[in-house]
Amino acid sequence: MEKITLGISTCLLGENVRYDGGHKLDRFLTDTLGQYVEYVPVCPEVECGLPIPRESMHLEGDPESPRLVTLRTKQDMTERMVSWARKHVVELEKEGLCGFIFKSDSPSSGMERIRVYNEKGMPVKKGVGMFARIFMEHFPLLPVEDEGRLHDPKLRENFIERIFTLKRWREVLAKKESRGNLVDLHTQHKLLILSHSPKHYQIMGKLVAKAKEIRLKELYQQYQTILMEALLLKTTPKKNANVLQHMMGYFREQLSADEKKELLEVIDHYRQEYIPLVVPVTLIQHYVRKYDQPYLKEQVYLHPHPLELQLRNHV
Ligand code: SF4
Repeated sequence: MEKITLGISTCLLGENVRYDGGHKLDRFLTDTLGQYVEYVPVCPEVECGLPIPRESMHLEGDPESPRLVTLRTKQDMTERMVSWARKHVVELEKEGLCGFIFKSDSPSSGMERIRVYNEKGMPVKKGVGMFARIFMEHFPLLPVEDEGRLHDPKLRENFIERIFTLKRWREVLAKKESRGNLVDLHTQHKLLILSHSPKHYQIMGKLVAKAKEIRLKELYQQYQTILMEALLLKTTPKKNANVLQHMMGYFREQLSADEKKELLEVIDHYRQEYIPLVVPVTLIQHYVRKYDQPYLKEQVYLHPHPLELQLRNHV
């Protein structure tokens, strides 16, 4: 697979672009995820023409449409930032981004819970960074996270699974549009979708079943929207355990009573969160290889992202 293109707040790459001339290097993003990702850096404050170093800023006013104001001299940077950001998101369309990693707590780049100060100088953590808001409105289906949230193993696994899935979807888009290509992708992703949302699994199954009745362009559009919505819903031990039991059903004939008992125990220990997901998945992968199970060996659920990222060791 080619590298995945992701937008990122420039300071997370270790570039000295912050208001104080420093950076916020995140080693997981550069050294680990960076092996699979091509980053497109964006520093809204520098790229809209502000110097390094510069006066620090914050958001103030209405949390729904705050102003971006410098702390000491009270210069209002809102118009400058908004007009730059609106142009820049259009330029970013050509990059083929599969997601964006924002810098947390930034009045320009933060994606959620950013402090917005009222006229008495009291903050509420309800704002969105000015560039981040415009970016997310322009690309509503793109996976986004901030580096702080990515320290949470479940959020990290979910985000990385979504960007790898979007990349595979983009590869389908790059081919000639055909119902067959879409159905193949859907077939491979069935159990992954089921692990996020049984409801979306049903909806997508119906959509694909009537694929011949829908105009191709519309089918692609609907499918992409529902796929991204489905993956936005978090997996849980209960949902994963259901998928694992579903997979176990494919070995009804081959497994001995003892092997079935062992597998059920492992799934149950995972459901109760005594062991991580990688344990039952590895056992099932073993049976898939041993019995060369044709449907399961194509399932992305069993290998949604590179093993080296160790994402299922912690969920
Ligand atoms: S948080 Fe955003 S605006 Fe601030 S230095 Fe980092 S990239 Fe630039």
